[in-house]
Amino acid sequence: MAIGALERETLARFCRLLFFKTEVPILIDLHTHTLFSDGVLIPAELVRRLEFLGYSAVAITDHADASLLDFTIPRIVKAAEELNQSQSVKVIPGIELTHIPPDLIAQNVKRSRELGAKLVVIHGETIVEPVAPGTNRAGLEAAADIIAHPGLVTVEEVRMAAEREIFLEISARAGHSFTNGHVARLANEVGAKLILNSDAHAPRDFMTEEFASKVVQGSGLKPDSLSALLSNARQLLKNIGYQF
Ligand SMILES: [Zn+2]
Ligand SMILES: [Zn+2]
Repeated sequence: MAIGALERETLARFCRLLFFKTEVPILIDLHTHTLFSDGVLIPAELVRRLEFLGYSAVAITDHADASLLDFTIPRIVKAAEELNQSQSVKVIPGIELTHIPPDLIAQNVKRSRELGAKLVVIHGETIVEPVAPGTNRAGLEAAADIIAHPGLVTVEEVRMAAEREIFLEISARAGHSFTNGHVARLANEVGAKLILNSDAHAPRDFMTEEFASKVVQGSGLKPDSLSALLSNARQLLKNIGYQF
């Protein structure tokens, strides 16, 4: 008798839980995009696809500046509230403050939180875009939650991240990932916390456990560091009021 896709999925999940519960890391992704910015999926499809891949939590963090905050954040909050009623993946409403002049970042972080963003990501100084110098530092001073793709982040900035427990991103995204090795090395030297995110814009960008592990190793981290990075993600979720 042929079995359908849903039965196959249920069976696969059952086997995972039964045999691999302690060995299989439960994946978390705290940086994704929907069609509220330049992603291609609506929130419901993004979350369903990650549920299918075995994720436990996802933050939706669309790009925005001051003109979009009051449009985007309430809609992500609404999607998260509804999806959290029925899907197994915990959806965290967030925002990625993108290409905002550094001296305006603090007020946009504050406004984002007022509008309901539980996770504020700064679009950091990636070397593949002309992000304004000073963006990483402004995000750290404004107590954002994650500095995404921080590029050639300085040791002083990494120290600030460590002191303030702000997470620096190891990116699985092409281009942004060029400086993962630099970010990982400085974070390890100084004791700053790293987090691994996909920065997914389309289904092909979601990380399997195998790919996540390769990105971690490609960053110069030890092969078993994926667990530590996922533990950092759980710590961040705890810091913003979610229990895992
Ligand atoms: Zn970004
Ligand atoms: Zn992004």
